Amino acid sequence: SRTPIIAGNWKMFKTVSEAQNFFAEVKGKAEVEGVESVICAPYTNLPALVEAARGTSIAIGAQNVHFEDNGAYTGEISGGMLKELGVKYVIIGHSERRAYFAETDEIVNKKVHAAFRHGLTPIVCVGEKLEEREAGETKEVCKTQTEAAFEGLSQEQAAAVVIAYEPIWAIGTGKSSTSEDAQDVIGYIRGIVAGLYDEATANAVRIQYGGSVKPNNVAEYMGQADIDGALVGGASLEPASYIALIEGA
Ligand code: 13P
Repeated sequence: SRTPIIAGNWKMFKTVSEAQNFFAEVKGKAEVEGVESVICAPYTNLPALVEAARGTSIAIGAQNVHFEDNGAYTGEISGGMLKELGVKYVIIGHSERRAYFAETDEIVNKKVHAAFRHGLTPIVCVGEKLEEREAGETKEVCKTQTEAAFEGLSQEQAAAVVIAYEPIWAIGTGKSSTSEDAQDVIGYIRGIVAGLYDEATANAVRIQYGGSVKPNNVAEYMGQADIDGALVGGASLEPASYIALIEGA
């Protein structure tokens, strides 16, 4: 059975000292048997957070990675650089990166391969825009994004992927998807993975819901058969709220 995974995505929030203060407050608390806690922080915070997380069950993740191993890519960070720090996870293809930094399905796929080359576990984000949902294209969009992200992955790699289904209209809006709607899409995404590989691989993949997840609704999502956790923005920024999310899962 799949271990639930709650990941905070801090986005572009917190300096190093703010991150350290946060961690000191959640240490020993946001650690619940049977739930994996992850914090995906800005690059600058990663060394301090990995150090602070040593000996705890909280894993540290990045929010992006470049698809090449090194080279003349001013301002970019490679998988090897993250791996050496002790980072375990990396968010790939978040809708904000797709929208503001022109990340295509092809780039997302290259980044997923880069993550695996360096022993990082990708958290791959998929999800539809409001107009796509209204046009009844939600599943089609998720299918295209999921198939593209998994292109060329071995079965073993595929089984290790974490997918985050984040409907874009639910991000930072307070308008979360109903748990039934999220289950419907996430069950469908699991079926896509089964079609690409097999049932065993699909059953191994962890699929999170993301989009206005809060301490008071996280349990509802977790209660759904195919929902294995949450990718959380706003509610992961305050220690008490982050702890409540992990406890609520
Ligand atoms: P919110 O939880 O702030 O809606 O953000 C969701 C998200 O984008 C997580 O990656």
